[in-house]
Amino acid sequence: MLQPTPETVTAYIGLGSNLQDPIAQIQRARRAIAQTAGMAELAFSSLYRNPPMGPADQPDYVNAVMAIATTLAPHALLGCLQAIEQRQGRARSGERWGPRTLDLDILLYGQQQLHSADLTIPHLGIAERAFVLLPLLEIAPDLTIPGKGALRDLAALLPADALLRLDDLFS
Ligand code: ATP
Ligand code: CA
Ligand code: CA
Ligand code: CA
Repeated sequence: MLQPTPETVTAYIGLGSNLQDPIAQIQRARRAIAQTAGMAELAFSSLYRNPPMGPADQPDYVNAVMAIATTLAPHALLGCLQAIEQRQGRARSGERWGPRTLDLDILLYGQQQLHSADLTIPHLGIAERAFVLLPLLEIAPDLTIPGKGALRDLAALLPADALLRLDDLFS
């Protein structure tokens, strides 16, 4: 496993899918990310099943979080992730939070805070979303979210039944 060095930044990617075999989509995206130049896998969470945000007339999501070591700058990283979404058939319907084969969000990029027209880091909503906080807690329990506080404290505010780990579902 690649260890972060002074030239690399540890970033956290949120993965989500609710179309065309979501578990396979997530696994394929994991491989694609690891195989992209400038990105290497550090850790990968369990898979979680999650009811959709927004329009309710769509299948449940499968979500996970991946830690990577990256040498890419934030916008370059976003571009690579969007290219992977495209390759996996992501169609933009125009409907907010509509169904998709693959969604890749940059949750965190080191301890940096960034706000531009097309990129906000930490990702907006990170502090309220169980399907982000619980997988993060699994792979990086001591994390601090810039501007938001300790991950543990944020996760403690979630309802106890916030979401289902797929491993638990099948065991
Ligand atoms: P949400 O961002 O609330 O989870 P979403 O993932 O469904 O919603 P998308 O349609 O995938 O939203 O993305 C809309 C835009 O969000 C993208 O075109 C991208 O420019 C922008 N964006 C801003 N910050 C980020 C980030 N941290 N990671 C990924 N995309 C981001
Ligand atoms: Ca790589
Ligand atoms: Ca998203
Ligand atoms: Ca997105």
